[in-house]
Amino acid sequence: MIRIAVANQKGGVGKTTTAINLATALAATGLKVLLIDLDPQGNASTGLGIGQALRAQSSYELLTGAASLSECVVASPVPRLDIVPGKVDLSGAEIELIDFERRTHRLDAALDGAGRARWDVCLIDCPPSLGLLTVNALIAANAILVPLQAEFFALEGLSQLLQTVERIRARFNPELSILGVVLTMYDRRNNLSAQVSDDVRACLGNVVFDTVIPRNVRLSEAPSHGLPALIYDHRCPGSEAYIALARELIARLPARAEAA
Ligand code: ADP
Ligand code: MG
Repeated sequence: MIRIAVANQKGGVGKTTTAINLATALAATGLKVLLIDLDPQGNASTGLGIGQALRAQSSYELLTGAASLSECVVASPVPRLDIVPGKVDLSGAEIELIDFERRTHRLDAALDGAGRARWDVCLIDCPPSLGLLTVNALIAANAILVPLQAEFFALEGLSQLLQTVERIRARFNPELSILGVVLTMYDRRNNLSAQVSDDVRACLGNVVFDTVIPRNVRLSEAPSHGLPALIYDHRCPGSEAYIALARELIARLPARAEAA
């Protein structure tokens, strides 16, 4: 099971939208996908129609060891896509985990446990910070996927994120790779989007996916129906872009992880 952290410490850049729709697009290709909602806001869970009643065992219980991976998994409305829901208790986890042994490796250990062979890919939807939750995700992950909003300050904060990745690679997880950066909320009618895209590509090169995710109202409407955009309206430009992103991403996956 390859593990991909969807991370960027900025909020509102499209992490959750990317996690939900990419997970759905990957599942549509036949892969068995696990989505872990690691954000106390639980938006990925809500966006997949997982109500509070189904969050009794969540990523919080997984991190604290109160429940095992298989106990926390809930089926989503999408075939082959399961989710470990997130809930507000996670906001206390940063402090509660301080007293735990190997507090940065809780998720990694939980994902090494029994049951992981059920899935081919695991996407981890990170909260908007570089705190202990995101560190757990980066230590558990094989690769990081960074959504970057196509706006003026897109690159601001990215160096901090990349430094964190570098530190985690040096100290804990040498195999952590940068799978790619994806531009989100791209507005074709706005020259600024094109300018930002050029700048980001000039700065980061090949690591940036060719696929850009357009600003598309269907992507923002879908979560209120508890469905991925890919199911809510599979032909909208946003859905088509996430299908293209999944294709590009599969081509980038390390062969080792694909075989695992
Ligand atoms: P994050 O998880 O990084 O905080 P979200 O994925 O929750 O970001 O996106 C923030 C807001 O922007 C949400 O309301 C979401 O519906 C909306 N949004 C995300 N991507 C797009 C897009 N490509 N087009 C239009 N709205 C989007
Ligand atoms: Mg989010």
